[in-house]
Order: sequence, then structure tokens, then C-alpha cells
Amino acid sequence: MMTLDAIAERVREGRRLGREEALILSRNAPTPLLGELAEMVRARKHPDPVVTYIIDRNVNYTNVCVAKCNFCAFYRPVGSSEGYVLGFDDLFRKIDETIAVGGVQLLLQGGHNPDLPLSWYEDLFRAIKMRYPAFKLHALSPPEIIHLSRLSQLPVEQVLDRLIAAGLDSVPGGGAEILVDRVRKLLHCYGKATSDEWLDVMRRAHCAGLRTTATMMYGTVETDEERIEHLLRLRDLQDETGGFTAFITWSYQPSHTELGGVEATGIDYLRTLALARLVFDNVDNLQASWVTQGGKVGQLSLAYGANDMGSVMIEENVVRAAGASYCMDEVEIVRNIEDAGFIAKRRNMHYEILGDPIFCQRDVPRMLELATARGNGETSTPNELRLYPARSRTGKASRLQDGMSELQDGGIAGWQDLKD
Ligand code: SF4
Repeated sequence: MMTLDAIAERVREGRRLGREEALILSRNAPTPLLGELAEMVRARKHPDPVVTYIIDRNVNYTNVCVAKCNFCAFYRPVGSSEGYVLGFDDLFRKIDETIAVGGVQLLLQGGHNPDLPLSWYEDLFRAIKMRYPAFKLHALSPPEIIHLSRLSQLPVEQVLDRLIAAGLDSVPGGGAEILVDRVRKLLHCYGKATSDEWLDVMRRAHCAGLRTTATMMYGTVETDEERIEHLLRLRDLQDETGGFTAFITWSYQPSHTELGGVEATGIDYLRTLALARLVFDNVDNLQASWVTQGGKVGQLSLAYGANDMGSVMIEENVVRAAGASYCMDEVEIVRNIEDAGFIAKRRNMHYEILGDPIFCQRDVPRMLELATARGNGETSTPNELRLYPARSRTGKASRLQDGMSELQDGGIAGWQDLKD
């Protein structure tokens, strides 16, 4: 067995870590050593003392989901009185608010709703691009794309092509959880996407010219070996395509979930982040997950391999449903970056620097509370939904009730008519 000293030396020499070495580090390395090595790798990859962040808005367009992952507190089953779908106008308003604080992108993800066909997504993307041509759509994680492929009975490549033609700019790395099928079966997320299926969507997205991120949710039922297997599978795909811009890891949030359990500690988070920095010699950027860890651990992440503070979170629904609700607007993010000794710069999804903080240049409204998908007590159904065929029994019944069932797949013209 290799000694810790020999493995640390290997990292210092810039050589790639193998499975066995990563496992020894994860089990036996003292936390300060992991931090020191990860910081060294971060500084090698990012010699300028700059830490980046993006201003975007994390919007969940629907919480209705047939996947029913047992670690998820966010979803509602089809027919639930708490289920929602956001209307196009709701989304336009959210984009207006995002642009007002200097935002450049929507991170758009949601449940696997059988009553939203592919044409709904295409019309939405086109409508957004028509109104906001420069605004970016970082949208639909691999399991959502697989869901649309099954729903429309079209191959994943074709779904991707249609979404790209409608305005999809990049794909978020959600839904990866742990890319080991034993774990996925235990988390009831094997059906939404197997490990191979998740990786294959990313491969196809990269081949179609899109950049994507990669993620890991740890702290459920996986072993140390399975966490490392996850990192290695992502590293292999990155060797093949080079399409991942960044890696983000966060801990499972157990409150209000079927799976239950306890949350991993902040130390486990920092160790996991540092290990990822050491394994990913081919991924440039690691984000700090302050949304699950809070601002202080988020700031400490910058000493454990992270070079990016992720998103100025204007809105968040998924992690909040599971009990965590940290809020940092641009002023707070920048303060955390500067207090850690770095220079804060805004970026886009491609990690191109956009400039200094917006609030240094002009007045922007402070956002001291996270917005939610819908206001309290809001239950209305968006008008344009009637234009799209539903698949579920309850969805069909409610659209029949609206008296518009004869309208099939209305397209953007239909939506605009309805709106006008
Ligand atoms: S994690 Fe995503 S796919 Fe799984 S139940 Fe929640 S919303 Fe659905």
C-alpha cells in the first residue's frame, strides 16, 4: 500500500491520482493535508488570486415529478394540490428581475412532469430568446432530457438538437447523485437515469457543442469507494470530450425526505471538495456549495480547492424544501471572497470574466431573502398550458375541463394568440 507521503509527493509533482491513491487519501489523510494539497492544485490551475461567481437565477419550472427519488423533498406527485407549473409570463418576470441585478442566465430545472411535452419547452425557450436574445439558458439536467426523450419517443440526440435549435445554451449537471447503479437503485433514481444513461446524455451534449457542468450529491448510502468511482467516471468522460466546465459537489439534505438520515458535516464537505480537486486534473473549475453549507464553509471552500463561489442565488426551491436556506446576494458573495484574500470577478457559464462586481458600478437592489418559485397561496394555472397535450389522466381531465382539449400542441403562434 502506498504511504500518504508518497501520494502527497505524487500530487506535488502534478501526476494523476489512481483509484487506490484517492481512496487512501479519502480515508487516511488529515484534513489540513488534503486542504494544503487541494490549495496547491487550485493555485497551479488558477495562478491569479481571482475567485469568480455568476449572477443567475435558479428557477424550478415545475415541482410535479413522476421520478419520486427518495432523497427529494421538492417534488409533488401528479394530481397533488401542491403541484405547480410556472407560466411563461412568470418566467419573463423572473428574468426581468434577474437582469435588474446584473444577471446573465437562467438555471432552469424541474420535475419530470408528464403533462409538459417537448413543444412546451421549445416554445418557452424560443419565447425567452425572442425577448432576451443575449440572455443564456443553462437548462435541463440529463434526467430531464431522458424524460423528454421517453415522453416524445425521440432519441436523446434529437431532443437535444430540438432544444438547441430553440435556444438551449448549456446543460447543468444535476441528477448525477452518485454515478453507481447500486446507489441509484437504493435512492430510487435508477429509473430516471442509470449511470451510463446520465453520462451518455452529457457525452451527446458535448458532441453537439454544448458545455455542461458535473455534480455529485454525497452523504446518502454510498461507500467511500463509490464516491471515488463517481469522480473517476466523470474524469474519464472529461478525458474523452473535455465538455465539463466545472464540478460542484453538495451534501444530501435529509429534512422532509422519504429517505431521512442525517446531514454530512462541514468537515466531510471540505474533505470531499479537496479530494475532488485532487482527482480532477482535467476539470478547471470547482464551485463552493455555500447554498448547502452556508457562507462560512463556503468561504473556507476557497482554501480547499474551490476557485468559484457559484451563483448569486436569487431564488432557490429544492434545497430549501429539504431544510437549508442560505441567502447571499452579490454584496455578500463579494465580501466573502475578498475577506478570504481574493479578488472577486463576475463570469459567465464558460468562465469568461465579465467584469468587476455590478454593485461597484451602479445601484442594484439588495436581495436579502431568497425568492421562491411562486408566491404564498398562489394556485393559478398558466393560460398557455391548455395549448399542450397532457399525458397523465389527471392532466388530461383538467385540460378537458378547461374546454380546450381539441387544441393540440399549439406552438408559439398559438401561445401568442392566446396571450394577445
Ligand atoms: S430529484 Fe428531481 S427527478 Fe428526483 S424526485 Fe426530485 S424533482 Fe423528481
